[in-house]
Amino acid sequence: MSADPVAVVGGGPGGALLGYLLARAGVAVTLFESRADFEREYRGDSLHPYTMELLDQLGLADEVLRLPHRKADGFRFHTPHGVVTAASYARLRTPFNYVAIMPQALLIDFLVRRAAEFPGFRLRTSTKVTGLLTGPDGRVRGVRYRDGDGEAELATSLVVGADGRYSTVRRLADLPTTSLGATTDLIWFRLPRLPADPAEADLDLYCGPGRYVGMLGAADHWRIGLGIPKGGYAAAREAGVEVVQDFLRTHVPWLADRAGLLTDFNQTSLLSVDISAVSRWHRPGLLLIGDAAHVISPVGGNGILMAVQDAVTAANALVPALRRGAVEDADLARVEAERAPAIAQVQADQVRTERSLARARERGRVVAPPRFLRPLLALPAVQRRSARSNAYGPRPPALDPGIVDDLPVPGRTGR
Ligand SMILES: Cc1cc2nc3c(=O)[nH]c(=O)nc-3n(C[C@H](O)[C@H](O)[C@H](O)COP(=O)(O)OP(=O)(O)OC[C@H]3O[C@@H](n4cnc5c(N)ncnc54)[C@H](O)[C@@H]3O)c2cc1C
Repeated sequence: MSADPVAVVGGGPGGALLGYLLARAGVAVTLFESRADFEREYRGDSLHPYTMELLDQLGLADEVLRLPHRKADGFRFHTPHGVVTAASYARLRTPFNYVAIMPQALLIDFLVRRAAEFPGFRLRTSTKVTGLLTGPDGRVRGVRYRDGDGEAELATSLVVGADGRYSTVRRLADLPTTSLGATTDLIWFRLPRLPADPAEADLDLYCGPGRYVGMLGAADHWRIGLGIPKGGYAAAREAGVEVVQDFLRTHVPWLADRAGLLTDFNQTSLLSVDISAVSRWHRPGLLLIGDAAHVISPVGGNGILMAVQDAVTAANALVPALRRGAVEDADLARVEAERAPAIAQVQADQVRTERSLARARERGRVVAPPRFLRPLLALPAVQRRSARSNAYGPRPPALDPGIVDDLPVPGRTGR
């Protein structure tokens, strides 16, 4: 195995999981995170059944489920004409038949603490990767980084850019992205959660003519995302916060008593939705995964799922290569070949949804499945099928057990 570590740049869900998997497989890995901690306001918090099954395979699910979380058993549209259940995770045949909603920071903290139990793992927080070192053959051979002590360099066997949608590694590697065209932005804000609030609304969508809000439940608050036309934040501010309050009072009546707590747009954040992908995920000595390789929209809430699946596919390809001695281009190409079609499928679905949202907005129509489809959506088998497709995504990769079962896990028994 190469003496130089793998540098994983970015401690989001993709980078943290890959760091853990590599460390557990006996690979030396340094995880770089530019921020001091993993706290993220308004990021994805959803752990899909695939992710929970993976954690179970790693022997980590019980511990993860001891961390504070909520379980969402379905995804519903609430419309002026009734409630439409679009996906019922409860109908899935798995012990993890729900989406666990858990603050991202808790999961990532947990993963890096477990990774740190392996001798090859090193976490460098407050350390920003600022440059790539390349050899005379053009192969990436290390990173330049900046921490509290100034600039320094690290020679690497491979650099994995898991540094999110505004990836520095992607820019430095000259791997440009193509935007597939999002039509929506989201305005996020919080309101308190009260004990009498509907227990099952954690992932639900409340729809009115031309508008909708998506809910993300937490123990003591709701994070609420209001869909607006792309680039429409200034106009929404101009229209005033009363428009948002009125929408909540009319379409989420159980929040009416708290709608007035949103008094100013300064209480909101803008998520500029993007759907974009790189045309090439790698170059010699370097691989991109997660949002760095493909930004997806919040439709389906599966950004974490895709980053996690990229990490699994990367571990499957990289560990045998690193154990052999070196990562070849073919190993990196294998990751792209396995993941790019799944991502393309997810993004194509999202582009279709985005277009229909835009049409509903323009025509002032209620954003929800058309009425003629509702009898079909009410069928248990259809609710199970759509839950399944969201829970696992297209082409879910299986973690190669040979990667993690060869080495004992400190202090616990893996599966
Ligand atoms: C408002 C919002 C809501 C969302 N809702 C959902 C949801 O409900 N469900 C869902 O699954 N997904 C959701 N997503 C998407 C989800 O958060 C992302 O898809 C997911 O976090 C991507 O994971 P990642 O590991 O690829 O990158 P990220 O989570 O973006 O992590 C990248 C990390 O890299 C670090 N970094 C960046 N540059 C450098 C550098 N130069 N050096 C060192 N470190 C660096 C960053 O600080 C960050 O910690 C949402 C996103 C947003 C913005």
